[in-house]
Amino acid sequence: MNNTQVRCRFCGTPLEHSFVDLGMSPLANSYLKAEQLQQMEPFYPLNTYVCENCFLVQLPEFQSPENIFSDYAYFSSYSDSWLNHAKDYTDLMVERFGFDQRSRVTEIASNDGYLLQYFKEKGIPVLGIEPARNVAEAALKAGIPTIVKFFGSETARELANEENHADLLIGNNVLAHVPNLNDFVRGLKIALHPRGIITMEFPHLMRLMDENQFDTIYHEHFSYFSFITVKEVFAFHGLKIFDVDELPTHGGSLRIYASHADDASKPVEQRVRDLVRKEEDNGFNTLEHYWSFGEKVKQTKRNILDFMIQAKRRGKSFVCYGAPAKGNTLLNYCGIRSDFIDYTVDRSPHKQGHFLPGVHVPIYGPDRIKETRPDYLIILPWNLKEEIMKQMSHIRDWGGQFVVLIPEVKVFE
Ligand SMILES: [Zn+2]
Repeated sequence: MNNTQVRCRFCGTPLEHSFVDLGMSPLANSYLKAEQLQQMEPFYPLNTYVCENCFLVQLPEFQSPENIFSDYAYFSSYSDSWLNHAKDYTDLMVERFGFDQRSRVTEIASNDGYLLQYFKEKGIPVLGIEPARNVAEAALKAGIPTIVKFFGSETARELANEENHADLLIGNNVLAHVPNLNDFVRGLKIALHPRGIITMEFPHLMRLMDENQFDTIYHEHFSYFSFITVKEVFAFHGLKIFDVDELPTHGGSLRIYASHADDASKPVEQRVRDLVRKEEDNGFNTLEHYWSFGEKVKQTKRNILDFMIQAKRRGKSFVCYGAPAKGNTLLNYCGIRSDFIDYTVDRSPHKQGHFLPGVHVPIYGPDRIKETRPDYLIILPWNLKEEIMKQMSHIRDWGGQFVVLIPEVKVFE
């Protein structure tokens, strides 16, 4: 790719302004097997840009989505808090919009059916669309109708031809992962019933910046949205955002509610105007605001290394909890390898026995921690820290302490 020709994936403006440059990094979800440790490993630039025209923060595409997602190791059903979130969402939607046996609920990137199972329990017809074959097969086994496909205007047209218009079209943590953003949103418009509702959840750029969550930047995550920008993208494709919720998930997400622009049955709620105002007041419509972030990230790296070097000098041991994509960005950017971290643990059997990409830290099951009694347990998925601290509270028996590195180094006494 010629760097001078990188253009905004929404509006096509040449990208000239770096948002934050995290150096060279491997694909965050490419966990390694033992035999791969002896081989070369591809690293790609992790340099995000901000568009001076629409303010979309974005990573240029280096890998085809097929390579990134075809054997995706992430199974949603392994997180308890995420399952609760999915169940609460289902109740909320049924209560507010009255979906029933005559409705059709379609989820894009439906994973192993973790969310659709709750609609199915209520007797509501569901359809999952999931590009990763291994995860889609888990959904099918659980009785969730699922087609193995990437979603875009072509898939949407096939669904529309079969009269499978969605009354509720769901996309959780997928909008940010779409390389061809315009084709995806065009597809939403095509797949949606004339009176249907779209809800999409994605991390909120405002929270990413406020809370220093630079580790949520990785190659599989192409776009980072403010509300102002996502509203503009949807409007361009004839969709109207009529409501929005600010959620605590993934460190602070938005759930947007959209309909066809001409669907008068869904008036725009005050919350939409309030959030636009809040972002404008915070400078999300000026480049200067975005420029401040890079220096904050460098400072954070220095603080993390300071803390770890001092602890190592005192003879302390570090182990991590979790093997999330965000942990891989953080460890690779900071250069924290097995010289600092003895190992990490993860509940997912699909990750155990593998190694973290780039830094080559081994992944074991959580029981290992009882055996080696580390001084510090670094929680990489900081968004789940309460849950993990409860689960692993026995580390306090030998004086072990929990550590979170984002937004800043914090040791929990
Ligand atoms: Zn743009």
